[in-house]
Amino acid sequence: MTTEYQVRLDRDACDGVFACLVRDDRFVEASDGLATIDGGDGSQHERTVDGTELVTFTDEQLTAAEQAARACPVDAIEVLPEEADE
Ligand code: SF4
Repeated sequence: MTTEYQVRLDRDACDGVFACLVRDDRFVEASDGLATIDGGDGSQHERTVDGTELVTFTDEQLTAAEQAARACPVDAIEVLPEEADE
């Protein structure tokens, strides 16, 4: 089911453990050794000054994002589901 949702990554909290990468391949290692989100085409990507990335997706990978969020030992990832798309 296609769902619109947002994924928030707090890069200040991220510890570079990379438990998220194996759950959702949209999380990738950045040159600074921390995780970043590779939204690819079709996502809206915002990066705030405090180091938080906020990406809006409309796809079928909500579960993978939620698994990545649950796997993160420092709770740096938050998934914010929107209403299901009809
Ligand atoms: S699992 Fe959490 S701490 Fe580890 S790289 Fe991903 S966001 Fe960072």
